[in-house]
Amino acid sequence: MNFARGSGGGFVVIKSSTDLATYLQRQQVNGKLTAGLLSIEGAHALDGKLENLEVLYRAGYRMMSPSHFFDNDIGGSAAGAHKTGLTEKGREWVRQMEARHVIIDLAHAAAQTIEDVLAIASRPLVVSHTGVKGTCDNNRNLSEAWEDAHSPISEGAPFTSEHARIAGSLVGQTRSLGLSLGDRACLALGIATRAPVYTADRSWKNLKLGIGIHVIR
Ligand SMILES: [Zn+2]
Repeated sequence: MNFARGSGGGFVVIKSSTDLATYLQRQQVNGKLTAGLLSIEGAHALDGKLENLEVLYRAGYRMMSPSHFFDNDIGGSAAGAHKTGLTEKGREWVRQMEARHVIIDLAHAAAQTIEDVLAIASRPLVVSHTGVKGTCDNNRNLSEAWEDAHSPISEGAPFTSEHARIAGSLVGQTRSLGLSLGDRACLALGIATRAPVYTADRSWKNLKLGIGIHVIR
């Protein structure tokens, strides 16, 4: 926080989704602007008291992992002696983290703790720094099974002749915006299934297709 104050506005601490949206807008104008999020590796920082979550929240912390290099009273660590799962207190920690919208970071967590958090979490989770066993097979890295199971892509849809017809009809409206066949295929699926479409491409905001188009950044 002191660092942010001393930066003359050049460094911003993000504490809410509104802060993030404002920062991203300002960053468009000033590309030198940088932002950060206060995070803690290991919930042993709570000194055994879940009430301390509120203290850290007020201090600006918005992300925390259950454990760091050793098992603690919240959950197990990938480097821990027993690599345990979430404890009862750990389950309450998940509930209280989610109630405050503090991000749960599964970096360093033991495999069982990751499974236990995934089973009860209702908000998006983060693994802020990790690797995959397919590249380096050790305790710390995630198995590909998790990657597959928790990939944001949970269902694939075939590109049908109906989608092809819709995609073709979109050429006139989308060519000037630089959209590709892949982009039109995505939009065609949204139109055919009446599903909202999510994109990182801001030019899609200018499309009038009768479906919800959400720009994610
Ligand atoms: Zn770390």
